[in-house]
Amino acid sequence: MNKVGSDFAALHIEPGYVARLKELGMETPTPVQAEAIPVILEGKDTVVQSQTGSGKTLAYALPLLQAADPAQKHVQAMVLAPTRELGMQIVRTFQSLTDGTGIRVQQLIGGASIQRQIEALKKKPHIVVGTPGRILELLKLRKLSLHGVRQLVVDEVDQVLELGGLKETETILRGLRRDKQVLFFSATIPPRIMEAVERWMQDPAFVRINPAERTSPTIEHYYVVSEERDKLDTLRRLVRTYNPKAAIVFIGDTEDIGETVAKLRFIGLSVEGLYGDAFKLDRVQAMQRFRDGKVQLLLATDVAARGLDLPNVTHVIHLDPATDADAYVHRTGRTGRMGRRGTAFSIVTPKEEFIMDKFSKALGIRIERRTLYYGKVLSPEEEEQLRRGRGKKPVKASASASAVRPPGAGLERPAAGGALAGTRAPQAGALAGPSTAARPGSAGPAAGRRSAAGGSPATRQQGSAAGSRVARKQSAAGSGPASRKQRKPLTPEERKNKGAPRWLKAKREQT
Ligand code: AMP
Repeated sequence: MNKVGSDFAALHIEPGYVARLKELGMETPTPVQAEAIPVILEGKDTVVQSQTGSGKTLAYALPLLQAADPAQKHVQAMVLAPTRELGMQIVRTFQSLTDGTGIRVQQLIGGASIQRQIEALKKKPHIVVGTPGRILELLKLRKLSLHGVRQLVVDEVDQVLELGGLKETETILRGLRRDKQVLFFSATIPPRIMEAVERWMQDPAFVRINPAERTSPTIEHYYVVSEERDKLDTLRRLVRTYNPKAAIVFIGDTEDIGETVAKLRFIGLSVEGLYGDAFKLDRVQAMQRFRDGKVQLLLATDVAARGLDLPNVTHVIHLDPATDADAYVHRTGRTGRMGRRGTAFSIVTPKEEFIMDKFSKALGIRIERRTLYYGKVLSPEEEEQLRRGRGKKPVKASASASAVRPPGAGLERPAAGGALAGTRAPQAGALAGPSTAARPGSAGPAAGRRSAAGGSPATRQQGSAAGSRVARKQSAAGSGPASRKQRKPLTPEERKNKGAPRWLKAKREQT
């Protein structure tokens, strides 16, 4: 992360906050803070576009805190966020700065007890942070009033407006006083946001930090090709190969998440699921276990993970490819935050491979193909060298693993009996075609996946005999526990709806 040369005091941040920021290890404003804070302090309506993890929260939190008057007994600023987790994270950022200021910040997020929030509102908070639905509910109940609200921030504005929050946000905006200041923040500002900007902002200022560089330059982007049915095993192999400190795994279908968590646990991965319709307590506990490093993976949907700041996340794995380039930016932005290094890995089927090319072009980044082989991650050149080194055609799926095991290779067994996971479609066909898979007892792709997927970690390390036992048992039992549903290729409409909450799908189908 490039930090700019000035300090917070030079941005007219009050000494008390400057001192507190220093205690928190923040002395130099990030570019988005350096650019946005002066404009916001001027009182202008502002649209801020900046990468995720670039310090956006403080870019609005500091001006809001500074404008708040603790002597007044009403809400003066409101922050809207798309999800509970992000709402809670924003509240934590505010609260890290409010000690001794007399400013009270209250969270008003859906899924939590409304009664408790009503009680908390009696303490007259100065700033509230919440999800649009819950805030509207409290307004309708007349437990919250907009009359004193002078500043409204919509964080992750594209997601708030997209997820049906448009109507609720507009109702809130309509209720605000005329001289309000409106601030929109997001890593992506798609055209539909511009309609809202025109409707709700007066003479807006635009702060764009590296708009051409929408993902952090510290992130490396890769993809690996895998048949749909092998995706979970490919994920397992990625995790074994990289052993990430903490990784978020994105899945498209909300409905699949519980089942997928169970399958991943069965194949020995340490994982929690974070999904929209779980009870709040489950979500909080899942997040806490992940934050505390008690589990290595967090399986999440786009909506659930939007904007989360989890500094330890070293890897983002797209088990299903992102629906579009914007979604790729947001998902991938969970790693490589504040200048840290990060790795993004998409697991795509041969038919989905073109999407990587689309994202590369749309975002001006390189998403390089990789192949997993014996615990190593090979570039196409290395893969080619390996093939040439063997002086033969690609390894046949029936070749024994030990026959092709290069000296000093890692412990991973190839998923398809020697086949290279991630090989391009035609080669994958040659290496692991359906005829091989169908042969009884053969080490075809399904058998390879099942053997890897079915064994406990201990079983897997016992080598191929144990592995093939599990393979036989599971091939007799039909699809292995880690298999993913075989899906038809999606229509463009279905792709758009993938991963959207059920109500949003229904709404889109009606239109
Ligand atoms: P955000 O983009 O707001 O989610 O912030 C990403 C991370 O950057 C958070 O962990 C912040 O605590 C941290 N951060 C924000 N501003 C600064 C700064 N000026 N210096 C160091 N860290 C910062």
